[in-house]
Amino acid sequence: MIGFQYVARYGDGEHMMRLRFAPSPTGFLHIGNARTAIINYLLSKKYNAVLVLRIEDTDVERSSRESEESILRDLQWLGIQWHEGPDVGGNFGPYRQSERLEIYKQFSEQLLKNGNAYYCFCTQEELETMRARAFETGTYEYSGRCRNLSTAEKERFRAEGRKPTIRFRVPENETVIVDDAIKGKVVFSSENIGGDFIIVRSDGMPVYNYIVIIDDALMKITHVVRGEDHLSNTPKQILIARALNLPVPQYAHLALVMGNDRKKLSKRHGITSVDLYRKEGYLPEALVNYLAMLGWAAEDEREILSMQEIVAQIELEKLAKSAAIFDFQKLRWMNSHYVRLKSAIELLPLIQPYLQEVGIDANAVEREKLLRAIELLKPYCELLSDIKNFAPMLLSEIPAYDEEAKQILMSDEATILIKEAFSFFSETPSSDIGQFVNVVKAKTGFKGKQLFHPLRALLTGKLKGPELDQVISLLGYDGCKKRVEYAHRIYIEKLPLEGKL
Ligand code: GLU
Repeated sequence: MIGFQYVARYGDGEHMMRLRFAPSPTGFLHIGNARTAIINYLLSKKYNAVLVLRIEDTDVERSSRESEESILRDLQWLGIQWHEGPDVGGNFGPYRQSERLEIYKQFSEQLLKNGNAYYCFCTQEELETMRARAFETGTYEYSGRCRNLSTAEKERFRAEGRKPTIRFRVPENETVIVDDAIKGKVVFSSENIGGDFIIVRSDGMPVYNYIVIIDDALMKITHVVRGEDHLSNTPKQILIARALNLPVPQYAHLALVMGNDRKKLSKRHGITSVDLYRKEGYLPEALVNYLAMLGWAAEDEREILSMQEIVAQIELEKLAKSAAIFDFQKLRWMNSHYVRLKSAIELLPLIQPYLQEVGIDANAVEREKLLRAIELLKPYCELLSDIKNFAPMLLSEIPAYDEEAKQILMSDEATILIKEAFSFFSETPSSDIGQFVNVVKAKTGFKGKQLFHPLRALLTGKLKGPELDQVISLLGYDGCKKRVEYAHRIYIEKLPLEGKL
């Protein structure tokens, strides 16, 4: 199936196989496209292939440089590396389709000359009327009205100021078989692809289905691995290749990612852009692991696999044929696993922006204390941003109280406990902080939950968190004292709040 052999030499060796990821820069990187990129990257590692990044930006109205930049940033964040692309160059550039218009023009001329394409002068209104009429009876297909215009007719239309499109003349009754590495053989007939389709718009811009196959050929792509939504486009691309005598790559169409209602994953289901996942505090390792393994399982059924382990197990032909359901909960769970694998030192720069959001200046906290706090809190963070909820417990002067904690602090038992805790700090020197829990326990006679719930609520503002001994040791005598005095003021003296809660 591979129509050419080209050996590329890069720092990481010689490569025969060439893959590509070809995003359209019309918004943020969608999670479904990120998965296509990740699979291509992993396959490039597995099969020692070159990975080409090509920007498909001929839809001028919807494409933007900002979008391209954000897509590149997100791909880099995910850890995906490419050998050739608009930013790094390569032997088959330019890698932005908008910079390749001269190349496509030559192919258009060839198609026009051979009669495989023709100018179509139908106006927008004429096409709409045809479409509306067709929908009354069935499905629309371009009538081929301009297929055989005479030179005089063409001149008349031009004189009227009409700007023509170029249409591909779809051959009649031609069978196109897509021999797909994942789906198997998929048979199409040229009769069912909607008639002669536009390959160059009236403004001169060529369209995706036309130039994608030209670029795949010129960039010597051997394998096109992309989403299944492009399977129905493939016969058009193959017909163009036949007309231009270009090689056809091996196709592999990945089953789509669906929401739990089996509809195409969209914003209704949850976050769909990689950019937002990053901002929410997901780690790239978790996204890569989760997206890479959507729809297939490792031999030993393990779900947490490093990139190297995935590369060792992934196989193009074994990728799932049927849709994969995106499980947001599972991704969260996977993320918490990767958060826990990181050391406090690694986590620090990643969580710093979130700390700032809750008013904690990491640079103002003693480093050893900061790292200890992160170590204690990381089991509570599924997402990096969860640190916003837990960090004040250890790093703010007075943390806000949760609703549950407030309820507990208003109970009769808490009243007794707060008073005893308050006396402890008025009577005991700082060197005896180690005795705090024991003294309060002895004085109140409380034990178990009766003791630990109000104590935890009093010191941390929450009922959930790290071991109390650890919390007390991290806060130290002064930290604990401040919090006890604060609670005493509110719940015992019932003084109005001065500071913010
Ligand atoms: N530019 C197309 C897209 O973003 C991808 C084309 C392809 O992979 O063939 O959907």
